[in-house]
Amino acid sequence: MEHNEKKIGDLNKEETKSLNFLEAIVEEDIKNGKNGGRVHTRFPPEPNGYLHIGHAKSICLNFGLADNYNGMTNLRFDDTNPTKEEEEYVQSIMEDVRWLGFDWEDRLYYASDYFDQLYVWAVKLIKDGKAYVEEQSSEAISEQRGVPTRPGIESMFRNRPIEESLDLFERMRSGEFPDGSKVLRAKIDMSSPNMHMRDPVMYRILHATHHRTGDKWCIYPMYDYAHGQSDYIEGITHSICTLEFEIHRPLYDWFLDQIIDTDYRPRQIEFARLNLSYTVMSKRKLLELVKEDYVNGWDDPRMPTISGLRRRGYTPESIRNFADRIGVAKRDNIIDVGLLEFSIREHLNKITPRVFAVLNPLKVIITNYPEDKIEELELEVSPEDESMGTRKVPFSRELYIEHDDFMEDPPRKFFRLGPGREVRLKGGYIIKCEDYKKDESGKVTELYCTYDPETKSGSGSTRKVKGTLHWVSVKHAVDAEVRLYDRLFINENPDEVDDESKDFKSNLNPDSLKIVTGKIEPAVMEMRELEKFQFQRLGYFCIDKDSTDERPVFNRTVTLRDSWAKKNKR
Ligand code: ATP
Ligand code: MG
Repeated sequence: MEHNEKKIGDLNKEETKSLNFLEAIVEEDIKNGKNGGRVHTRFPPEPNGYLHIGHAKSICLNFGLADNYNGMTNLRFDDTNPTKEEEEYVQSIMEDVRWLGFDWEDRLYYASDYFDQLYVWAVKLIKDGKAYVEEQSSEAISEQRGVPTRPGIESMFRNRPIEESLDLFERMRSGEFPDGSKVLRAKIDMSSPNMHMRDPVMYRILHATHHRTGDKWCIYPMYDYAHGQSDYIEGITHSICTLEFEIHRPLYDWFLDQIIDTDYRPRQIEFARLNLSYTVMSKRKLLELVKEDYVNGWDDPRMPTISGLRRRGYTPESIRNFADRIGVAKRDNIIDVGLLEFSIREHLNKITPRVFAVLNPLKVIITNYPEDKIEELELEVSPEDESMGTRKVPFSRELYIEHDDFMEDPPRKFFRLGPGREVRLKGGYIIKCEDYKKDESGKVTELYCTYDPETKSGSGSTRKVKGTLHWVSVKHAVDAEVRLYDRLFINENPDEVDDESKDFKSNLNPDSLKIVTGKIEPAVMEMRELEKFQFQRLGYFCIDKDSTDERPVFNRTVTLRDSWAKKNKR
């Protein structure tokens, strides 16, 4: 009896998805009534570039966690560095977060909103003997900071009178000193094995115009000083960041210790950042690709930016599913980009209408089909979703098929067209290749086929052939520019180079974009507003913003199967 009960208990446990370590921490905090049981997270981008798929993971995590536990999430621009930040980035970041399906409601903040309060707290730290104005050069500071294994050397300004530091800090603020001449340092521990605790810099002088505060300030707080205090001001409970900040955590806590006199306290928790194979994710490198024209802007469909993925044809659902699938880890790892591609295939398979498109056309003339006859064949829009209904596909004497679907001398197992061979034209008839024409260079230019009128699809004909091809009627085809995108890098790890004079850019894939003129079935123009399509047998494609009324432009989102997995096995 007892034995049986145990078994049922175990089964139930297996059925509920186990908590990830962040959820476990949050549940424990709620159970203990920490911070009144509240869950409040934030997403804190620095507006110095466009968001990428790594940020998407952080967004899903922060907003997702709050959603699951009845909490809230703030969007906070971490704009403490006026020299690299731009309004364009602020706008793009907001657009991307919204597009991913998340809502910060009225909680849009900027670290720069807190400059006054941060200044007041800095003055308090000086008064408490916990901070001092340093006048040595940055070289001298880092020299004295030393190495983790030996204690550093205390600055000669470390024990200067409080009044002196207060006076100098005030004058730093009022613009009396040039950039780099002085900094405010926290007075912590010059012998700490953690280098971040060896009197870190809190403020530096920067005579730069800030995108929001203009010229009000010429001293700016450092990330470590601004971040935790901003969390505190906003009532954040769980401050989730990537692993490289683990070593900053004692400093995060130290700054909070200096100002907190309440029970409430934010907690920093680290997780492993997302790394993807065949992808670079650092903003510096992405900026380089944009600035040096290796790609066509931040939203180039080959970029791992959210705007690039959007233009490539990714859906918010597919990115959220991907983020969910990869979960959260405490150790750094590399995720196969194939998993991201799988997520978009999976979603597009469910939602896209199917159409015929021929990207490398070869003309087929059906010699026994009447010259002026046109048949409107009725084909299903999607085998995955009957509610999408049917579409009309015109069939006529002259058609295009894919050039690769014909071989002059095909091997036995080539179930497509060759001299004397038969195939079914999907939704139409069985045709037989009787003859073909070549140009001077030996390239096949036309096929002459006959059709069997008894084999019309849906007519109850029982005759079967092995191969089925897609096709488009010559007369009815719509010309489209089709941009065949592929992975931007040829190397799994783009940073791996064989000699030191090279960098990640030497691993760019020369074939990451091929442009062809495709022949598309006319129904696509009527379904245009659906934007995303499956070109049957070829892949998923979406309409690009460069389209005009006369000439649609399509981007290939992804092929139907992962061709890279095959390549790697060879
Ligand atoms: P980069 O190092 O590429 O410049 P960053 O971390 O400086 O990126 P931020 O704008 O500061 O960029 O990042 C905002 C948030 O997104 C941070 O909380 C950061 O931890 C998170 N984030 C950035 N990159 C990744 C990633 N690859 N995976 C998961 N989270 C990330
Ligand atoms: Mg950062």
